[in-house]
Amino acid sequence: MSQEDFKNKLTPEQYNVCRLGGTESPHSGKFNKHYEEGTYICVACGQELFSSKSKFDSGSGWPSFTEMMDSTHVTLKHDYAYNMHRIEARCSKCDSHLGHVFDDGPAPTGQRWCINSVALDFIPLNSAKPG
Ligand code: FE
Repeated sequence: MSQEDFKNKLTPEQYNVCRLGGTESPHSGKFNKHYEEGTYICVACGQELFSSKSKFDSGSGWPSFTEMMDSTHVTLKHDYAYNMHRIEARCSKCDSHLGHVFDDGPAPTGQRWCINSVALDFIPLNSAKPG
């Protein structure tokens, strides 16, 4: 997708996070306290990213996961912004910014994937249409 395609598809808030690397305000996102069963996908391209099974409440104010669904679906990059070294997570298919990964998460992985709600969409487990 071109920059124009992303601008047409995404809301200004989604575009700011996904394409410009912005961060939503903590506790503002619709998936922060969201615990339905299902799959979180990239809001820009639909690639599957996180299972609800790996979601936990980190208290950070952002949706948090202990692992990604498939390591090939996420690209990791060093991020040195704000005088910090963080690991940035991007969608491997459309290169949208998702959030960051930290090593202070719970067992079993010890990882904390700190992801912006606006970078995600959600497919409920029982979303199959009847018939
Ligand atoms: Fe994507």
